[in-house]
Amino acid sequence: MSTCQNCNNMWNWKQTIRKTTTLDPAMTCPNCGEKQYQTQKSKKRISFLTVIILLPLLIQTFSDIPVIMLLSLLPVIAVIVFLLYPFFVELSSKERYIGEE
Ligand SMILES: [Zn+2]
Repeated sequence: MSTCQNCNNMWNWKQTIRKTTTLDPAMTCPNCGEKQYQTQKSKKRISFLTVIILLPLLIQTFSDIPVIMLLSLLPVIAVIVFLLYPFFVELSSKERYIGEE
């Protein structure tokens, strides 16, 4: 779960969703007001989660499961990923750019 690196306050699920769904990469901690950024590692994990949403389509390529069944699974998986993703968010006090690691 996302913990503020400045005050060690753990953001709850709702706060994390609200902060991470904005276009602004800087997220202000609701506890101390300090700006927090998502780490590169965290961003990679989130993109991996997005891939999971597309997994049923991949399964379809290798099996005889009807497409309509898999397509009806997509929103379910999307909801599960959405519910889980705040647990994968990791915060840093410093903003990092790709390739800096
Ligand atoms: Zn804080």
